[in-house]
Amino acid sequence: MTEVPSSPVLPRPVPSFTLSSNLQHLETSATIALSQEAKRRRAAGEDVIDLGAGEPDFATPALPAEAGIRAIRDGRTHYPANEGILELRAAAARHLSLLSGGRPVNADHVVVSTGSKQALFNACFSLFGPGDVVAIPAPAWVSYPQIVHLTRGRPVLVPGDPEWGLKVSVRELERMLPAATGLILCSPCNPTGSVYTHAELKAIAQWGRDRKVWVIADEIYRRIHYGSGPAPSFLDLPDELLERVVVIYGVSKAYAMTGWRIGVALAPAPVARAMAALQSHTTSGATHPAQYAAAAALGDERVEADVQRMVAEFRKRRDLVVGRFRRELPGVEFVEPLGAFYFFFRVDSLGTTSGTEFCMRLLTERGVALVPGAAFGDDRWVRLSYAAGTPELVRALDRIVEFGRTPGEMGKGEAGRGKGTARE
Ligand code: PMP
Repeated sequence: MTEVPSSPVLPRPVPSFTLSSNLQHLETSATIALSQEAKRRRAAGEDVIDLGAGEPDFATPALPAEAGIRAIRDGRTHYPANEGILELRAAAARHLSLLSGGRPVNADHVVVSTGSKQALFNACFSLFGPGDVVAIPAPAWVSYPQIVHLTRGRPVLVPGDPEWGLKVSVRELERMLPAATGLILCSPCNPTGSVYTHAELKAIAQWGRDRKVWVIADEIYRRIHYGSGPAPSFLDLPDELLERVVVIYGVSKAYAMTGWRIGVALAPAPVARAMAALQSHTTSGATHPAQYAAAAALGDERVEADVQRMVAEFRKRRDLVVGRFRRELPGVEFVEPLGAFYFFFRVDSLGTTSGTEFCMRLLTERGVALVPGAAFGDDRWVRLSYAAGTPELVRALDRIVEFGRTPGEMGKGEAGRGKGTARE
């Protein structure tokens, strides 16, 4: 046996340092962490089905993909206009206008960013600062509180009503006053799939205007809606209610373009200018050829057929998941998904497990990756993403149902009740 010699070089003293207080609240995204663990297990040869990630399994439709390739071939590979190329801003303005019955949308108020995540960051950083209180209906997408922390603001989770698809109303928001200067609202909602009605959005917009609270409306899932047409939007409201509203939109979800990293924000002119100035010092604008791809996605009406095909498929999967939970795990409470591609169900009534424990055991014992509700502010729940192929989804559901029915672990819940989401 050969001895491994110890290194002749003495370990260098590690300089003691601390990271900036900018990052004092920073945590890695829990959804990404779990997805990485699932990938690690899969790479090690385990049969793991990942229903944790929030991205469509479909390929990017051909027209935008070709437009991106063409842009590279045509040499559109230098710095773009910082606020976004005019083709994309105009296409986004036209697209948002059409979705909201032809309302005027000014392309000068559209800022293109590196994913809607950066659009959210730009909006929050431009509007909130040290000590500002920002209300976030919970459960909430993981990045909202993190982004608010990065502005040195204070995110405050406002628990949604379990009798109402975990949505919040003006009544709950009113309790946040006088402290709140902002609200981040997501509809259709990640992680619940709930959708705010037109009347509910209107009431919130009126409240924001009257109370001088900025509303950041994350409408990235607007096209993935199981009612008729696109989901209700703040852009369906009259101009006088939108003075303090920033709408976030993008191509990642409905167009299966997560990797192109293009998102947009529509904001009142001074805010749009501030957001553009901010990103001139960070990214200098979103990837140039990807902007052409996004312009084709939003601007070429032939892509509509692709969106409809994908949404129809999501709807089938939603029905599959809801149907199987109703029939085979009747004790499990869940939010009836009306949009996005998530199914949010409650595990505390199933025994002693928290969402975190449930997900860990489901991954290690049955090879299915889901996301614990802790990532969204409430660990009594778990999120399942059905943005996965139907055969995989069926196999995963078989395992979840089997796990749920294992005596002594789960299946001790009360009678089944899927929660409706409508409340005017
Ligand atoms: N908002 C919500 C609610 C999301 O779920 C996501 C992606 N998971 C984003 C914004 C960011 O999307 P992107 O940056 O890819 O446009």
